[in-house]
Amino acid sequence: MAKIFCVANQKGGVGKTTTTVNLAAGLAKVGQRVLMVDLDPQGNATMGSGVDKRAMALSVYDVLLESASVAEAAQWSDKCGYHVLGANRELAGAEVELVEVERRERRLKQALAEVADQYDFVLIDCPPSLSMLTLNGLCSAHGVIVPMQCEYFALEGLTDLVNTIKQVHANLNKDLQIIGLLRVMFDPRITLQQQVSDQLKAHFGDKVFDTVIPRNVRLAEAPSYGLPGVVFDPSARGSQAFVAFAEEMVERIKKM
Ligand code: ADP
Ligand code: MG
Repeated sequence: MAKIFCVANQKGGVGKTTTTVNLAAGLAKVGQRVLMVDLDPQGNATMGSGVDKRAMALSVYDVLLESASVAEAAQWSDKCGYHVLGANRELAGAEVELVEVERRERRLKQALAEVADQYDFVLIDCPPSLSMLTLNGLCSAHGVIVPMQCEYFALEGLTDLVNTIKQVHANLNKDLQIIGLLRVMFDPRITLQQQVSDQLKAHFGDKVFDTVIPRNVRLAEAPSYGLPGVVFDPSARGSQAFVAFAEEMVERIKKM
């Protein structure tokens, strides 16, 4: 049965999408069956997985509104080696349309249950907000992966997310836990980053992943080619770090 993970952080630009597509590609590379779900109306994870968000017949929007199943709406990305349940601007409307329906925060969970035996991992790229869309992600998941930059306000920003996760855990999804904090865009030459990294480990212990993702321009260039860095340039330092992270995740789920 698939293990389902949300990649979440309510801040924008912290590396959620980069983490989602590169972890998906890394997991595929080490032989895992992966479904990537884009829950952000910007559709960056969709485009970054080689799927044109403007040309999709069906998307995660149709799944949330129960007009399509995951099996119908997901597409195989041949270049990336995983399935993509894509998103585009249409998804922004789902927030409003779901207001009226019952169990609206459990739509994705129900839909994913039908395909759980077809994957080892489902990775959900969340939007930069604690919205109904993110709530659908958190209700579906076994765990949350939190990418973060080792900057001064990083810990402060975590409080809201940690509180939301606690509430979802208590009221909606008792499986939910923070799997780990992933240090991304890391530059060891910057003393402050090293200090924040040490603080994170002191505070959160083994909730901090061993793998560190370096700042690497190849990871930033890859989306303009419609590919995760892991596929675009496998030899880049950032890509190798994401493959190592995929291996770390495979080990972690053995203990779950
Ligand atoms: P989010 O999804 O949280 O908004 P993104 O994954 O889109 O964040 O990342 C924000 C920007 O930072 C993007 O331009 C991305 O290419 C760049 N980026 C992310 N991770 C790295 C990295 N490790 N090295 C260099 N650039 C990165
Ligand atoms: Mg994003």
